[in-house]
Amino acid sequence: MFRGDKVFEKFEKRVWLSSPTMHGDELKYMKEAYTSNWMSTVGENINEVEKKVCEYTGSKYAVALSAGTASLHLAIKAAGIKVYGMPKSGVNVLEGKKVFCSDMTFAATVNPVVYEGGEPVFIDSEYDTWNMDPKSLKKAFEIYPDVKIVVIAHLYGTPGKIEELNKIIEEHNAVLVEDAAESLGATYKGRQTGTFGDYNILSFNGNKIITGSSGGCFLTDDEEAAKKVRKWSTQAREDAPWYQHEELGYNYRMSNVIAGVVRGQLPYLDEHIARKKAIYERYKAGVKDLPLLLNPFDNENSNPNFWLSCLIVDSDAMCRQVRSENETCYIKETGKTCPTEILESLSKINAEGRPIWKPMHMQPIYRMNPFITKEGSGRARTNAYISGEITDIGMDIYSRGLCLPSDIKMTTDEQDRIIEVIRSCFG
Ligand SMILES: *Cc1c(COP(=O)(O)O)cnc(C)c1O
Repeated sequence: MFRGDKVFEKFEKRVWLSSPTMHGDELKYMKEAYTSNWMSTVGENINEVEKKVCEYTGSKYAVALSAGTASLHLAIKAAGIKVYGMPKSGVNVLEGKKVFCSDMTFAATVNPVVYEGGEPVFIDSEYDTWNMDPKSLKKAFEIYPDVKIVVIAHLYGTPGKIEELNKIIEEHNAVLVEDAAESLGATYKGRQTGTFGDYNILSFNGNKIITGSSGGCFLTDDEEAAKKVRKWSTQAREDAPWYQHEELGYNYRMSNVIAGVVRGQLPYLDEHIARKKAIYERYKAGVKDLPLLLNPFDNENSNPNFWLSCLIVDSDAMCRQVRSENETCYIKETGKTCPTEILESLSKINAEGRPIWKPMHMQPIYRMNPFITKEGSGRARTNAYISGEITDIGMDIYSRGLCLPSDIKMTTDEQDRIIEVIRSCFG
């Protein structure tokens, strides 16, 4: 296909993991905001985004906010008040309360629990979808039967075992907060992610499947909660001629300019998903004879949005790789490789890859938080952790996996060269 020397030449233009892909309408709607002077957190673009997001996902209510993280914060606050009521102080809704959270995810999934004074308890992942493991969640409820809130993310756009997880959550009368920041457009048994939880969120960050450059959205079928979130996000003003406040407010509303970008992107969501899927399938075909797997999904029940294509190297094809808190090295062995070598090789040709999200239970900031695997407390094996032994599924996927360049604008020629570079690492 290529002359050997050509494959390893640097791309002139960097091939990104996932960068914004604009279509033109974004500028039109931003301009409308400008010319109509709705340069504020009120306006037609915001209304349209909320309407279109409801239509697309099937959620009853949508509140457009400044970021996915802000949306999660207010979702957690709504969940906390629903379960525990408003505390006398009006702040720290989760003071001292444990909350079950996805472990292998972006930190923004779990930080909002801490904003509200709660304590994240991390639940191990499973190999079938790389999301929260139902067996581990069951175990966690055995250990902490009083927990009433569960936060679940769908990693890289692949729906987790949401029905099974939800059944366990319902059995314990707990509330589900669904983090669909990465999975907008992905479905499980035909139903959109971001509609399974009592409170749910989306993100329009620059690297997501569609973007507003920033932005997020709160989704719910609970009218009261939607009203509350809208109020909190705009400084919690009461109905009065002056600034009257009974509740703690935030400045979390989406800007009408940002909403113009999101509004312009929404009609292209399905096209983005189709192009991401084609990238995933091209990788899959290109590496099918290598000792590795692409990020797996439930073929029968789910349609991922294929936001990022990832791979995991088979255990017996892994060369030795060691990671400290901020450095990594490996020892090359013939026929074997590791994420570090593949990422270095991609970087050499100017293509951007990334390690899998480092699990929260391995993060210094959360080192004292409980971590539950299907066997029980994953924290009992600290010695194994220090010695580098793999003791849980999240750590295993993290050590053997990586995210591949998955940018929609990547050409097939570029992707073929990337596949050749991956192939060369197994040499
Ligand atoms: C991006 C992301 C968020 C945060 O969204 P922002 O809009 O960047 O604040 C939360 N959770 C997950 C899983 C994400 O990938």
